[in-house]
Amino acid sequence: MSNPAQNSAATTESTLADIVSHAKEYGFVFPSSEIYDGLAAVYDYGPNGVELKNNLKQLWWKAMTQLNQNVVGIDAAIFMHPLTWKASGHVDGFSDPMIDNLDSKKRYRADVLLEEKAAEYEKNGEIARAETLLAEMGRLLTAEDLAGVKQLIIDEKILCPVSKTGNWTDVRQFNLMFSTQVGAVAEGSSLIYLRPETAQGIFVNFLNVQKSARQQVPFGIAQIGKAFRNEIVARQFIFRMREFEQMEMQFFVRPGTEGEWYQHWKETRRRWHEALGLPAAKLRFHDHDKLAHYAKAAVDIEYEFPFGFKEIEGIHSRSDFDLTQHQALSRKKQNYFDNDINPETGKPYGNYVPFVVETSVGADRLFLATLCQAFQEETITEGEGEEQKTKTRKLLRLHPAVAPVKAAIFPLVKKDGLPEKANEIYQTLRYDFRVIVEEKDAIGKRYTRQDLIGTPFCIAVDHQTLEDNTVTVRHRDSREQTRMPISELHGYIGHAVSFSRIFEQL
Ligand code: ATP
Repeated sequence: MSNPAQNSAATTESTLADIVSHAKEYGFVFPSSEIYDGLAAVYDYGPNGVELKNNLKQLWWKAMTQLNQNVVGIDAAIFMHPLTWKASGHVDGFSDPMIDNLDSKKRYRADVLLEEKAAEYEKNGEIARAETLLAEMGRLLTAEDLAGVKQLIIDEKILCPVSKTGNWTDVRQFNLMFSTQVGAVAEGSSLIYLRPETAQGIFVNFLNVQKSARQQVPFGIAQIGKAFRNEIVARQFIFRMREFEQMEMQFFVRPGTEGEWYQHWKETRRRWHEALGLPAAKLRFHDHDKLAHYAKAAVDIEYEFPFGFKEIEGIHSRSDFDLTQHQALSRKKQNYFDNDINPETGKPYGNYVPFVVETSVGADRLFLATLCQAFQEETITEGEGEEQKTKTRKLLRLHPAVAPVKAAIFPLVKKDGLPEKANEIYQTLRYDFRVIVEEKDAIGKRYTRQDLIGTPFCIAVDHQTLEDNTVTVRHRDSREQTRMPISELHGYIGHAVSFSRIFEQL
């Protein structure tokens, strides 16, 4: 039996400020060490946030290591031998161009100032002007012409948003790695870094994994873990943090085939985001104007946040740069012997250092995109005729597979054996799903609370339940209510929240 509660619904756009305050109020994200007024660009995940984030990470992990027999996972340490970062180029080249305003004493990333200017042109319909500016910036940064970058900022008449002046310092490079000392005594200690990316933990384990997991090229290694960057400008909530989490997969391929694999992963990863519920119209590819030192080709998958299209994932064709560098500094061969027959020579492809295609997505940025997409405020009308009322409701339209709570069970009243019945249902569901029982407040209020944290189903237990073992299942998005036997709940919820619903679309 279906009982459509909804007559109409209209959705309004939300701002980042709405999302930040919702995230705090409903236990998704808190500022770090808030009682001490917080620590810039560091955040903590609350009870609902950690569930959502874990679900997103699981979804990525399984899409990589369970859907592909030739992708296996590792969990490498955050600390690595310091030479790792020399080899990878991070000691010498992992820096952002910064510029200070002499009046406000505020520091900015020079490239971000120029990108924001280009976004302004784009917004005004001056697409060609935006493209020319970005191309010029890319050219100057690639040539490491920092004086040129400063001149471009001046020519574009970019002013400090705080002091409103163009009184700028020179542009300088600022290394983003955090360092610390390892060792008990000061003299004997050595400098080590907090990893700025998880990828290097994969590269240095390439042969360990290839041999122990008996993998043959092409194959991939996936990893989820923390990364640290001393970002110059920390803004936009969890979009740019100093401590964050990456989900990276390095795919090792035969040289010459990297172009096909790059296309393959580019498309596969975009489909994954769409399957998760990020609409195609809010996703786009953005080719890099300035390639990183290791890259042959690079593209970002961007999502349209309330503050514009921004990167959530990078797909990079990294050539054999990293493995060759590690080979040189560690003096350990990083060769792979390829037994497949090369049709041109009739002989095996033989020994080579594989090329790499990387997919790298930030768990926190994905979390933010998911939250921005799910957070909706809609105007709804309820009831019929004279009884009809218009009101607004806020809700999180999260995919059921990633929602922190899958179902909330509500005894209609706190007596007559209804709480006991609710608990019985809870016992049958809790081994497989994160479900809760809520007894307090009127049922309407309880529905509202669950809408706000994105719970896809609410199960109402009433007096009829005691007679015929049926319950009312209320659907978050449509507010429709369906009566069903308790015995069907497990299968019903299981179908909706299964990762399979997402994987089927890949
Ligand atoms: P940006 O240009 O925004 O600084 P990036 O190109 O340096 O990002 P990558 O080095 O390609 O980023 O890292 C891969 C992914 O890691 C990014 O797509 C992003 O999702 C995530 N990431 C990078 N830096 C941060 C950060 N400071 N805070 C949160 N996530 C980050």
